[in-house]
This record gives sequence, structure tokens and C-alpha cells, in this order.
Amino acid sequence: MDDLSQLFHRAAEVAAAHRASLPDRPVGAAVTADQLVAELGEPLRTAPMPATQVLEELTRGFARGLVATPGPRFFGFVIGGALPAASAADLVAVAWDQCAFNAVLSPAAAAAERIAAGWLLDVLGLPPGSSVGFVTGAQGANTAALAAARHHVLAQVGWDVERDGLVGAPRVRLVASTERHATIDRSLRLLGFGTAAVEQVQATANGAIDVADLERVLGRQAPGPTIVCLQSGNVNTGACDDLTAGCAVARRHGAWVHVDGAFGLWAAASPTTAHLTAGVEQADSWSCDAHKWLNVPYDCGFAICSRPQVHAAALSYSAAYLTGQGGPTPALGDLVMESSRRARGFAVWAALRELGRDGVADLVDRCCTLARRCADGLEAGGAEVVNDVVLNQVLIGFGDDARTDRVVEAVQREGTCWLGGTTWRGRRLMRVSVSNWSTTAQDIDQSVAAILRVAGQVA
Ligand SMILES: *Cc1c(COP(=O)(O)O)cnc(C)c1O
Repeated sequence: MDDLSQLFHRAAEVAAAHRASLPDRPVGAAVTADQLVAELGEPLRTAPMPATQVLEELTRGFARGLVATPGPRFFGFVIGGALPAASAADLVAVAWDQCAFNAVLSPAAAAAERIAAGWLLDVLGLPPGSSVGFVTGAQGANTAALAAARHHVLAQVGWDVERDGLVGAPRVRLVASTERHATIDRSLRLLGFGTAAVEQVQATANGAIDVADLERVLGRQAPGPTIVCLQSGNVNTGACDDLTAGCAVARRHGAWVHVDGAFGLWAAASPTTAHLTAGVEQADSWSCDAHKWLNVPYDCGFAICSRPQVHAAALSYSAAYLTGQGGPTPALGDLVMESSRRARGFAVWAALRELGRDGVADLVDRCCTLARRCADGLEAGGAEVVNDVVLNQVLIGFGDDARTDRVVEAVQREGTCWLGGTTWRGRRLMRVSVSNWSTTAQDIDQSVAAILRVAGQVA
């Protein structure tokens, strides 16, 4: 074997050994970032180092700071997992090192994104022919999609925002629920709207938008350039906005509807949960993550728009040396904010190929069933389940705020599983997200037992 083959074999070995260790190792990291920096931080060496030695130093040095996020008992945030075929595809994609800017640079990357995009729209129940930008995640997707929305609502009143910016532009109304994800606000900041521009709509007890209040807020002013942000999958409760009613109200007021469906959009893939996203195809743009519920490795998400030309008008650019841009079909780089980027389509293609339509539905169903099992187990053990468990998210209280925080911390330290805390309706709570293909009923039972045992020891 030549040196490069040997090196890549060694890297694959490290990858395989790490994955194999996930079910049995403590979920949390053994050291803090500061400890690692103290151990490993040193001035940049002057002399070069052989690649094999670099790989050994890297893996040996940083391993203790790894968190078992792709493992079966990591329930923090909404993290997802990393499917075998998708992980292998990403390893190969790194070796291929394609720049997914346009089809001239990589026909393979362009084809993979186009094919995966078609499958994605199909499985999510979105209009065929919608444009899909392969972005870093839902944050990037929200920004890209809201840029398309900004273009469209201003073009409709004769304003070219790409050329003339927002100074002196007609005012755009931004309407979103109090329960919108924080990334919406960052996108609005970056797009020049500012967060104060958001007209807030009340949410229901479980965190979905109150459609009657949406109607009231929209009705405060005569129709004009308006963007309504709806949500599939509240990051705390899993609640999904009523998209049929929400889109109907927004339409009546001439608004562009954007749906932030980072993980909740996947509910459409299963007959059991599809009712939660009914009406989703009536929106104008959507954001969705591949690295959460589809279990593609980080980082990967989708900015989706029902009008490809609007999408491209908001984001594309040209330069004298570029070929492959322009034409009736937007190029890959016309749908995202990056110019050069890695080819994310291969891993998405691989994940959807590996799972098939039934496999995606089963992944969603299994996670929801296991979330319910977790809620039931904790409730039976005396904990308080606070949310209506409609999807894969569970909120749990262990008495007052301070005690709940202590339980969360103690569970993280104990290591059987990892989950985080959150604030919901003014209360500190433990938050469980089940979104990993490899989580089993036994993982849930083992985690519930550990949480209850630890809670029993916390005053
Ligand atoms: C996670 C999440 C986001 C942000 O997604 P990233 O992939 O972290 O950029 C946005 N909205 C919702 C509802 C989310 O759950």
C-alpha cells in the first residue's frame, strides 16, 4: 500500500472503532475544552510532521473531549445521528473533495444534489420542482429562504432590494409566533430587517401558533409586503403549527409564508405523523435539516423554495471568470449563500437510498414511540411530564427550577445518557429529544432508570 492508502485506512479504522464504542462509552466528554487546550495547546511547530503522525496525535489527543452525540443515548438539543451509509458517503466525499458550486466544477456533486432534492421534495410532500439549496443547516436555510421572501414581496411592489437595499424601501411586515426558533431572529438581523420588526403572534399552550391571533395581527394593517414565519417542530415541545389554517390566513393577506421545519418537517414522511404537517405544500419556502432527523452527519440542511427563479434572484451572483451559472435552471451556487462549499448531496443521497421511503417513515415513527415511552417511564417514576408529547420532544420537571437543574447536571455527570435543560413557560425543565436511528427501547429504559436513580439522589 502506498502512504496515502495506509493513511486513509488508518483514518477509517479510527472512524469504525469510534462508532463501535458509542453504545458502551459514557455519553459525555471526559475532559473540558479548557483542559484539552492546556494539554495540547502549544505554539505552531516550525518543522513539518508526517501525516500518519499527525493523525495519531489528533485522534489520541482529542478523543477524550468527544461527546457521543451520534450514539443511541444522546438526547440533548435536537441532534439526530449519523446513518451508516451517510457517514461512509461523507468519508468518500471528503476524499473526492468536490467543490459544489456548479456542474462544471463537479457534474457528480450537481447530479447528486439534483437527485437527492427530488427525493427530498417527494418524501416531505413539497411541490415538485421546488428549488433546494444545500446549506449548512436550518440557520442557513432560514436566512436563504427569507432572502428569497424579501426579494419577492419587495419585487411585487416594484422595489429591487438586491440593487437598492433596504434604505428607503417600502416597509416589509414580518409576522412570527412568540415561539419561533431563535435562528429566525438572527436571519432577520442579517437580512437588515432587525429583530424589532417582528410582529409577535401568540402561541397555544403547547407552543404552536395561535391562528386566530395570526389573523388578528395580520388584520391590523392593509395588505402590503408581508412575510409570515410558521414552524413545524417547536424545539422545546415538538408542537407543529397548523399549516393549513396558517397558510390560508396568510394567503388572504397576500403574505409570503416561510415554514421553519428544521426537524418537524420530517413528520410528513410517516402516515402516523403526517397530519402534523398537513398543508405544508401551501407555503412558499421551507427550511429543513438533514443533520437532525434524517441522520446525515453534520453539517447539512436545505433551503427550499416553491419559486426557483425567486430563490436564485435573491442569492445568485456572477463574475467574469465564472462558467456554469445562468440559464433557466439555477446552478447549485445560486441557491445558497456560499460560493465554494463541500458536496453535501452525496450523504443526503446515501441516507435516502439507505432508508428508502419506508425507512424514513420508520425512523420518524420509532423516535416518536420512544419519546412517548420515555415520557411514560419518567412519569411512572414520579417525574412530571410538562408538554403534550406530539412528536419526539419531552419536557420534564423534577420539582422546583433549582432541583430540576441539579438533576440535569447530575444526569450529565452520571454518563448513561446526556440531555439538557431548557426554560419553558418560565420554568426550568429537562428536555429530551429522541432523533437517532440507533436508539432502541432498551436505550430508553436504561436511560429512564438512570435518570430516576440519579434524581432520587438529588435533594
Ligand atoms: C435546530 C433548529 C434550527 C437551527 O438549525 P441549525 O441546523 O442548528 O442551523 C432552526 N429552527 C428550528 C425549529 C430548529 O429546531
